[in-house]
Amino acid sequence: MCSMEQVSIKHLDLIRYIVLINSWERLRLQGIKFYTVDLTKVGGRGEFKCPRCETEISPDDKTEKVYTILELVMKGDRLEKILLQCNRCKSQIYLTGFHALHKIR
Ligand SMILES: [Zn+2]
Repeated sequence: MCSMEQVSIKHLDLIRYIVLINSWERLRLQGIKFYTVDLTKVGGRGEFKCPRCETEISPDDKTEKVYTILELVMKGDRLEKILLQCNRCKSQIYLTGFHALHKIR
């Protein structure tokens, strides 16, 4: 019983991991697809088409009718990627390539 604390921390990590796997599995079973869009490859001002249903997704559209931003992933003080959901087909899309955009501007 000397390492009770260590054991409980390990258990917490394991539980978090299982919850994560389960939620991804549930999304997969619901038919929700995950895509990655690299902004350095789409050109233009950052607008791109949903890889599944071809809905035009524009960063200038702030209405959340077309898409919803689910998560911003930061690396230090820089934006690493954005997870957003296409509201038409419910696909979840990881936007990457912000690093290159910082360089251009
Ligand atoms: Zn879509």
